[in-house]
Amino acid sequence: MKKIRIAIDGHSSCGKSTIAKEIAKKLDYIYVDTGAMYRAATLYFIRKGIRPDSENLPQELNDLAIEFKTVSGYPLPVVHLNGENVEEEIRRLEVSNQVSHYSKIAALRKKLVSQQQEIGKMGGVVMDGRDIGSVVFPEAELKLFMTASPEIRAKRRYDELVQKGESVEYEAILENVIQRDKEDSSRKESPLIQVKDAVLVDNSNMTREEQLEFVMDLIQKKLK
Ligand code: C5P
Repeated sequence: MKKIRIAIDGHSSCGKSTIAKEIAKKLDYIYVDTGAMYRAATLYFIRKGIRPDSENLPQELNDLAIEFKTVSGYPLPVVHLNGENVEEEIRRLEVSNQVSHYSKIAALRKKLVSQQQEIGKMGGVVMDGRDIGSVVFPEAELKLFMTASPEIRAKRRYDELVQKGESVEYEAILENVIQRDKEDSSRKESPLIQVKDAVLVDNSNMTREEQLEFVMDLIQKKLK
């Protein structure tokens, strides 16, 4: 059976990773959460006190190692920062509020993009992020661009964090979602765009099941 590359880009918190994981499971493909890589890099710089505009930042990249490793208790490999499992910490609002400032940096993007290309080069991969269809895999067999209204996305994110026991405010999350979309779409380096050959999936009024069915249909056509 043909093993394709599925590129999923789109706005913040619109369920890209949820559907990407579901698809990967169904097809027995590798799933790569590229946002987790940018978040882990951001955590690294926050901890070291290195600001996005610091002139030392490019050389610091030599000491930054990001990998996905299998850990007991997690259904899928999770992101590690220099050997440490940071899966929980990178989801906190502090990292969410900073990540778009660091993901603008060309040298960081270059490093992570080449790692992503290496992971997906054999196909059989579902990758989600902001530049997968435009930069990482412009030749991907299937490209999706996902979105939903900012309010719906913020509410879903809020519910998720509350369920994890975090004390967060809906307004702060809504502001983060709007701000990140703005920064990710307007940056010079690999901005978030809907490429011409991407299928738009607005899931504002779709259930998870409807969305999965819609996307699996698109995939089946590509596999024929
Ligand atoms: O997907 P997630 O919301 O976890 O991504 C966090 C941030 O990482 C995004 O807001 C964006 O700034 C950055 N990112 C990126 N390119 C990717 C994936 C994520 O710039 N391919």
